[in-house]
Amino acid sequence: MKLVLQLLEIIAIVLLVRFVLQYVFSSRTRQVPPSERTAASASAPVEKFGEMKKDPQCGTYVSTELSVKIRRGGEVLHFCSPQCVEAFSKAQSSRPA
Ligand SMILES: [Zn+2]
Repeated sequence: MKLVLQLLEIIAIVLLVRFVLQYVFSSRTRQVPPSERTAASASAPVEKFGEMKKDPQCGTYVSTELSVKIRRGGEVLHFCSPQCVEAFSKAQSSRPA
């Protein structure tokens, strides 16, 4: 009989913890609505992933959010990969300035 009572106590605690966790989780999502923002910007992927810039090395268009950036002179160049940066730097240094 004691065992059953202990079991019921454990179940009650588990339910209580679960309730508290659900409350904390739901209130957190209510305070910060990033899901609403991402849903709104889903129609405008340009905002989410930044601008598309052309990789001057291979000609691929790459998002400014994901690109490998290097600063050359006054402008920022966007590359699809570090390999392209390396190839571009080599080509630039071999070229007379
Ligand atoms: Zn590239």
